[in-house]
Amino acid sequence: MAEDKKKQLDDSNKQMLECSKCVLRGTCKQVVPGEGSAEAEIMFIGEGPGQKEDELGRPFVGAAGKFLDEMLETINLKREDVYIANVVKCRPPNNRDPLPEEAEACWTWLEKQIEIINPKLVVTLGRHSMERFLPNQKISQIHGKAMRRNIPGLGSRVFYALYHPAAALYNGSMRTVLIQDFKKIPKVLEAVKKSESEKKDEVISLNNNQDNQETLF
Ligand code: SF4
Repeated sequence: MAEDKKKQLDDSNKQMLECSKCVLRGTCKQVVPGEGSAEAEIMFIGEGPGQKEDELGRPFVGAAGKFLDEMLETINLKREDVYIANVVKCRPPNNRDPLPEEAEACWTWLEKQIEIINPKLVVTLGRHSMERFLPNQKISQIHGKAMRRNIPGLGSRVFYALYHPAAALYNGSMRTVLIQDFKKIPKVLEAVKKSESEKKDEVISLNNNQDNQETLF
């Protein structure tokens, strides 16, 4: 089973390397699929590769990546324990924000990764990643809150929005908030597991909710 998941993920990521569905492939050096465990309970999703990531073909390897590694250590995790990916897999030129049509074009790859890994918790890093899963929200209002949302094709899932490590790196107050929110991840994960075990086979339907999402913790 674990082997199956790893193979499926490797196969999908290999196919991704051939993708040229949007203009970003024309300006980046290489596709950056993501890395980590196919068995991860937590998946971190950033916005897109930066210069260093584009050069090395790995996600979160610059200063923001080092900061992410340090925060993972504070909750006794290494990057091999989680999965780290981005909304767009190719670097936007000059690190500009990914355009909606680029995020849309790349969605099939991210959707496939989430489907295969099937994490218990998806942690969004930054505004663009949050927007993909929790639209019409303000990150300043929902950071550090876990929300369950029904995503077409992926079912009911729990998302936890955080500031992007790159944005928080040199901003003292945002950095403090991010570190505090990050430390809550193990508790959020435990709460997700507990709620799932208590609900057992019950189908969670949030369709009565006006915006199809509920705040959990
Ligand atoms: S950003 Fe995504 S959709 Fe666009 S070319 Fe790269 S892999 Fe393909």
